Amino acid sequence: MHNPQFSYNKPNAKCIFCSRIQNPHPDFNEPIVTTLLAYNNKEIEVCINCYSELEELSSDQNKSMNSMLQDKLNVSRIFAKAYRYI
Ligand SMILES: [Zn+2]
Repeated sequence: MHNPQFSYNKPNAKCIFCSRIQNPHPDFNEPIVTTLLAYNNKEIEVCINCYSELEELSSDQNKSMNSMLQDKLNVSRIFAKAYRYI
């Protein structure tokens, strides 16, 4: 996976993993910084925080970014299903 291009100030930016849409820093009244990652012929939008987390995990566990993405998406799906029953 090549280095991602991060978009600053993209309107309606939203992270698929943490669902963050606002910049967490109070001094920045602007959308969150995201990038689009290619995954299974789709593009998924991930914020810069979740991206660096994935990058760290991938180097710690010696797995490709693609397989880290897959793991994280699977976990997100399981949680999304579980929350429906709470
Ligand atoms: Zn995120």
